[in-house]
Amino acid sequence: MSRVGIMGGTFNPPHNGHIHAARQAMAAMQFDRLLLIPDNVPPHKTMPHGSADSQQRLAMTRLMAQEIPAAEVCDIELRRGGRSYTADTLRALKRELPEAELFLIIGTDMLLTLDKWREPETLCALAGLVTVARDDDDHAALEQKAAWLKEKWNARVWIVDCPALPVSSTDVRADRALCRAMVPPAIYQYIEQQGLYF
Ligand code: ATP
Ligand code: MG
Repeated sequence: MSRVGIMGGTFNPPHNGHIHAARQAMAAMQFDRLLLIPDNVPPHKTMPHGSADSQQRLAMTRLMAQEIPAAEVCDIELRRGGRSYTADTLRALKRELPEAELFLIIGTDMLLTLDKWREPETLCALAGLVTVARDDDDHAALEQKAAWLKEKWNARVWIVDCPALPVSSTDVRADRALCRAMVPPAIYQYIEQQGLYF
């Protein structure tokens, strides 16, 4: 059975924190494939004025994939259109890859709010949850959440033991120097060439 890691995001833009998380998850979990899935419309946040459009986010996600072993870009959420619910994406991937074991790679901020996502029971049934540190995490809170998800929906949770690389797309969009420092050169070049953000 092949092991497929799935990392969804808005990737507006992708940054070294995303790459770090994907590499750490890959090292810990030994995936055969790692799918990077840019969302179409994120359900949990509004896209700020001046954001990259979906084709630009897709192009930058392709550049990010070159930095991560075994990574490939999957545009399933862009093709589906509308709001991008992870439960819909996992159901579709399960149909496409019936033999695969699916794992969702998420930052610890996302594990802590997972029960607020649409159909959390579907997420827990269809994918293992691989959580990567995002900041100075409260480990007790994470363990408690993992135990609660396990009890309630039979979730399978892995908390990857690695240092955090605390950066966000919001930070990067607000500061050109930080963007240059925290985004791979090819993506920074693309941002400049497209006149994005600054
Ligand atoms: P924004 O600031 O626009 O919300 P973001 O930096 O949170 O963007 P997303 O594209 O929303 O990035 O995140 C996609 C996934 O990557 C989420 O699961 C998120 O938790 C995770 N992630 C983002 N940044 C990091 C980081 N620095 N370390 C670990 N995981 C991260
Ligand atoms: Mg975020």
